[in-house]
Amino acid sequence: MCVWCERYSEGAERWYFNPANYARRLYKIRREEAEAAGAEANPQRAGGMTAGGRPFQEAMAVRDVATMERIKKEAEERAWATHFGQVVTLEETLKIVDLIYPIGQMTCNCRRSMRGLPDEENFTCIGMGPGMYKWERWPDTYRGGVEFLTTAQAKDLVTRLHHRGYVQVMYTFGTPYLGGICNCDYPDCGGFRTTVDLGIKCVWKGHYVAQVDPNKCNGCGLCVSRCQFKALSFNPSYNMAYVDQMQCFGCGQCQIPCKPNAISLLDRSKIPALATVW
Ligand code: SF4
Ligand code: SF4
Ligand code: SF4
Repeated sequence: MCVWCERYSEGAERWYFNPANYARRLYKIRREEAEAAGAEANPQRAGGMTAGGRPFQEAMAVRDVATMERIKKEAEERAWATHFGQVVTLEETLKIVDLIYPIGQMTCNCRRSMRGLPDEENFTCIGMGPGMYKWERWPDTYRGGVEFLTTAQAKDLVTRLHHRGYVQVMYTFGTPYLGGICNCDYPDCGGFRTTVDLGIKCVWKGHYVAQVDPNKCNGCGLCVSRCQFKALSFNPSYNMAYVDQMQCFGCGQCQIPCKPNAISLLDRSKIPALATVW
């Protein structure tokens, strides 16, 4: 069990299956806290993910380890209190979609800034809850607005995005309020880059880890390019794929191209060496 389940699951199997973490009441509390602090009540400003980025890189350039560790700790604490993500599998995402309303398709902020994609080609983010009404009301501010989805449409969208290569990530907007199912990839996603490149944990590992069955793997290598987290490699000596389970985020992307179904997702909590690796 991760620390977020310990704190916020309230008896549910996982914290993101607890309907209370999507409640309008939490969104309101977050807004009131932001207003009290004098900040604009804007979910887009809840982030703390990349705030440590430039000073961290400067400290890295001169190998100032003490400063790096301090910035890293501060950036993580800020992210975990305000805006961080945890990877979920497609199956988990489909269960979450059944819990939430309203749900809408929006433009992806990371891909807009990384790729400069026009809004109409960039509807790869899924938002949920009362924040969606702002996106509907002020489409110029919340770029591209929102397209509300039925449950069936949301499930169809997330399934298509998953098969296209995007990893599903549950994001908080004022922890524990869950406001987004992000569909992310490396290097477009700022959260992935901060986590993978800088080691500042803005995205937590999911509750599963991949395992390759050596008796089924035929050595085709198709899974390797699917991994966004540098957890999967190809071992030419054994002619099979190899998963570094300490690095695996449990997204399930590697299963998609695997014709012999050689890759399984195992419950992290049942593997003692991995049960506390998040
Ligand atoms: S977190 Fe993912 S879906 Fe959300 S804005 Fe960034 S890349 Fe896009
Ligand atoms: S896609 Fe499947 S069969 Fe091919 S290398 Fe990966 S695990 Fe092995
Ligand atoms: S090894 Fe598979 S499940 Fe693990 S992070 Fe890579 S693609 Fe995702």
